[in-house]
Order: sequence, then structure tokens, then C-alpha cells
Amino acid sequence: MYADDSERIEYGVNYELALSEWGKLGADLASHSKAVEIIKAVEVLMGPIVLAYKVSSGAYVAVKYKTDPRAFVFVHPGFVDHRIHLQDSHEKLGEEGEVWRTNLPAASNQKITKSKVAPIVYGNCDNCFQQFPLHQKRCKSCYPDD
Ligand SMILES: [Zn+2]
Repeated sequence: MYADDSERIEYGVNYELALSEWGKLGADLASHSKAVEIIKAVEVLMGPIVLAYKVSSGAYVAVKYKTDPRAFVFVHPGFVDHRIHLQDSHEKLGEEGEVWRTNLPAASNQKITKSKVAPIVYGNCDNCFQQFPLHQKRCKSCYPDD
């Protein structure tokens, strides 16, 4: 599944640069910070990061750690695969062995809810009997100087 890709662009230990050059998480800050959180969590377990790279296909960004010669964390749009079990990882992928997956926050959960506009309430003017918005207190036709 994750054979060592020879076609790749390397960024040294600068995984932040790899992620931003890759750009697939875009302005999705929740996904970006979750991916970084996973990269850092694995670093605690696997020793310092030695290499971050983007595969030339653009499919994912991979990160290597000191204590394992293989790439260990793979950041995709929408999920991160890693060769070690982490607290939030919920799916183990079969045949190829040791790969777990953590889903990144769904984009649909991050849509900003439009703020509701308060409806305008009308009243009837006692003088001309026309409607006017109540927040104006008095009818503008009859009391233009208010
Ligand atoms: Zn009026």
C-alpha cells in the first residue's frame, strides 16, 4: 500500500512546509491541526522526524521517523494513515499489515452557520394607519423629525 515512493519531493524535517506546498487541506484549519497533532503524537512514540515528503502524484504527504526506516505517517485529504495505533484511530486496514486510519474532521462540520437576521416587526400608525417598523417608535410619514 505504501511502498517507498521514489517519485517524491522532499522537505527535510519541515513537514509544515510539505503540508502547505501540498496544499490539499487548504484553509481547512481543523484538519490541518489534527494532521499536525498526529504527526507530533507519532514523534513522541517513534523518535524525531527525519524526513517529510510529498509524493509526485500529490496523493499524500508522508513523514519518516528516526526509529523506523519506513515512512510512518501519511496525510491524505480527509484522513491520516499511520503504522501505529493511536488513541483516535478507529480503523485498521487489512492485508498490508500495520496501518491504522484516523479521519480528519469532515468539512461539512465546519461550515459557518449564517447568523439569523431578526425579522422586522411592524405596527400601525395611530395617525395615518399605515404600517411602520416598530423599532422606529413612531411613523416616519407623520413624524419625519424623529
Ligand atoms: Zn403615520
